[in-house]
Amino acid sequence: MSILTRFGLDKTFSHGVHPPEYKSLTEHRPIRRLPFADEMIIPLSQHTGAPARPIVREGQEVVRSEPIAEPGGFVSVPMHAPATGRITRIALARDVRGGMSPALFLQLYPGEGQEILYGAPVDVDGMSNPEIVKAVQRTGVVGLGGAAFPTHVKLAVPEGKTIDTVIVNGCECEPYLTTDHRLMVEHPEDVYEGIRVVQRAYQAARVVVGIENNKPDAVDAMRLAKPDGEPIEVESIETKYPQGAEKMLIKSLLDREVPSGGLPMDVGAAVFNVATLAQIGELLPMQRGLIERVITVTGPAVGNPGNYLVALGTPIRFILEQCRYRGEDASVVILGGPMMGVTVPSLDIPITKGVTSILVLDKAEVQKRNRAEYPCIRCGSCLDACPMHLNPSRLGQLARKREFDTMANAFNLMDCFECGSCSYVCPSNIPLVQRFRVAKSIIRERKAAS
Ligand code: SF4
Ligand code: SF4
Repeated sequence: MSILTRFGLDKTFSHGVHPPEYKSLTEHRPIRRLPFADEMIIPLSQHTGAPARPIVREGQEVVRSEPIAEPGGFVSVPMHAPATGRITRIALARDVRGGMSPALFLQLYPGEGQEILYGAPVDVDGMSNPEIVKAVQRTGVVGLGGAAFPTHVKLAVPEGKTIDTVIVNGCECEPYLTTDHRLMVEHPEDVYEGIRVVQRAYQAARVVVGIENNKPDAVDAMRLAKPDGEPIEVESIETKYPQGAEKMLIKSLLDREVPSGGLPMDVGAAVFNVATLAQIGELLPMQRGLIERVITVTGPAVGNPGNYLVALGTPIRFILEQCRYRGEDASVVILGGPMMGVTVPSLDIPITKGVTSILVLDKAEVQKRNRAEYPCIRCGSCLDACPMHLNPSRLGQLARKREFDTMANAFNLMDCFECGSCSYVCPSNIPLVQRFRVAKSIIRERKAAS
């Protein structure tokens, strides 16, 4: 532990909250591979941007890692077969929002060895920026911290912009989640291979790895594996939610402010989650596609919580059965963490690229979250919590009156990135972030229709 950490002087941003971490359930559990389910469901839209287009037909045999859908445009990625088997259907499947979306259904062959036969080595060091952008798109990698934004799009820097610093996000600030932690402890070399690719793509002069100070073993592992002579710093920063949000991390590590409505590239920075980099580092040198990821399966109603490597497309129900899920105790199943995650409408939906965790809360936990709502007492706690320095109390009042234009134009609603800190601290239990989500989607719909 550094002197700065000991005296609570690690770098940070202003405001934010300190929810209980609940990470001890899984933080020391090494990553283990789960078996394959008999049937996988691969949604064609599991990333930001245009859905992928199938390039296989019903009844076709596919081998593990073979491309099965092509990108639907530049802001889109291909899909690869997560296992060897037969495409049985191309049809609508239940999605995480409760609707139906097009998906490929893959039936596995019993007893299949599931060897990866696809891929060929490529010389990353000889690649130009456009070649890296194309190669990363072919891997199908998207932001694995939850955003699912296609990574190659981030690497294609527009004319007139320069990225001087790459930030590596090892914060994992949501309670319960420990996949990034375990990846840094167990596979730091894959993260550094990914760093090498993105640093080369940008020709960035500097790389800063930011890790919250509640993961000292990850800080040590990343420092130990750091390649000699590279301009890479590994920083231990304050454990505070939402430290892992892009704008907060840029402020904490570089003391730069992304302008309202702006992007990290506007201040010369690009932020990548460690899991995304580890996948680029593993897949790109062999020209392979993204077919699996590490997720944390945890919560009071899971008998065997841990960090598991699962094939994309595996149904949640199958994973929970493998982890001794106590269905009779469980009350709610969330994909992601308790602050920003979404409650699943069905256990038959599959794990997709952006899913970081399955969190199963029991009835006692849910009762704590479902408290009665009271009127605002103007205590100001939400203003003190908001990392974007917004006025959640006023925004909440405007949301009730459906004054969406005022929320956006006079109170910068669109700068809200839905971290949930305001709802977390509100003594009146006002579901502020839920109201902001609804308001933002209505504003977007209106804009699209005009
Ligand atoms: S949800 Fe939005 S308004 Fe609330 S604290 Fe987070 S950024 Fe601020
Ligand atoms: S925290 Fe809740 S009660 Fe306090 S000012 Fe904000 S909205 Fe009102």
